[in-house]
Amino acid sequence: MARNVLVSGATGYIAGHVIEQLLAAGNTVTGTVRDPNDKGKTAHLLAMPGAERLSLVAADLTDPDPFTAHADVDAILHLASPYVINVQDAQRDLVDPAVQGTLSMLRAAAANPRVKRIVLTSSMAAVTDNPDGRVLTDADWNTTSSLVRNPYYYSKTLAERAAWEFMEREKPGLDLVAINPFLVIGPSHTKAVNTSPQTLVDMLKGTYPAVMALTWGFVDVRDVAAAHVAAMNRPEANGRYLCVAANMSMAETAALMRAEGYAGRLPKLDLSGGFGTALMKLASYTQPKGAGSYLRTHLGQVPRYDATRVTRELGVSYRPVAQSLQDTLADLARWGHIPAAAR
Ligand code: NAP
Repeated sequence: MARNVLVSGATGYIAGHVIEQLLAAGNTVTGTVRDPNDKGKTAHLLAMPGAERLSLVAADLTDPDPFTAHADVDAILHLASPYVINVQDAQRDLVDPAVQGTLSMLRAAAANPRVKRIVLTSSMAAVTDNPDGRVLTDADWNTTSSLVRNPYYYSKTLAERAAWEFMEREKPGLDLVAINPFLVIGPSHTKAVNTSPQTLVDMLKGTYPAVMALTWGFVDVRDVAAAHVAAMNRPEANGRYLCVAANMSMAETAALMRAEGYAGRLPKLDLSGGFGTALMKLASYTQPKGAGSYLRTHLGQVPRYDATRVTRELGVSYRPVAQSLQDTLADLARWGHIPAAAR
């Protein structure tokens, strides 16, 4: 059934795919952006097939109450939130926009009797910032992040918690579904490099001195978008959906990149053993604060999780990670961020 859908953060990496899929399915979309006149950030959206059913309105998360009720909207996907690892002021730059934006959107949703479902883009960051090998499920919450320890994770945790607390307290006539993706990769609609695929660019630029004991849970942006759309459409969708296809270690990721012909300045030194991990934890104190705390909480950890609800209940099958990585690398080369594969 085609609907009128409000999508916040329309300029974003994931939102681009969400909007593309919504328009392809015949929906009408109102996208919120900081500046609707910023052609550099919106041209790709306005050029999408079906864009005659897309309109853009202004909303900045740093405003006190950025979202207003749109009487003609009947579902909301709230994606806008700063996704930055290193910030100057974690409260101002991450927590306030994430939490205030979410609460403002919930108030706007609650004020519109037509809205029956709001889908919130949360994150695995709200599930843990220290994947210690236990199998994580939608019952797990990140209880360890703070303004100084993984502040981006903290912002996502506080925003999602605030959303569920709002639902409990206000009992609005709508329900909330959260999507909690791990590291999102895959092709981008714009030249902007999202924080997650930036890791691959950095690996090729020689930013990493060595292969470290890092293991990433990857999920394709097209599958994350499909999960959002299904969460909006399926009346039975409920609660939180961990969204991740599979793990790949930094060593495996580097090997895949090399095999695909993207060698660049990939790290060669192997510091993924016990000694190397201890060394890299020490070296993490020389890094910007956000990156440093990420390294200290993730080095040597292998995430385990049950993310099968997305497939069982939302009907979205995850693309294989190797395929997603290949598509991401080809796309980064297409946009000129990395040299083309030498093959
Ligand atoms: P993104 O491309 O950086 O998108 C973030 C969006 O939020 C952009 O549209 C951005 O607008 C908007 N935004 C940020 N600060 C804002 C502000 N002050 N006012 C208004 N809009 C603001 O990143 P993304 O990966 O697509 O993120 C979308 C959502 O997915 C976020 O909630 C993020 O936490 C979540 N998520 C992402 C990943 C991942 O690996 N990418 C994983 C889990 C969860 P501008 O374009 O104007 O900056």
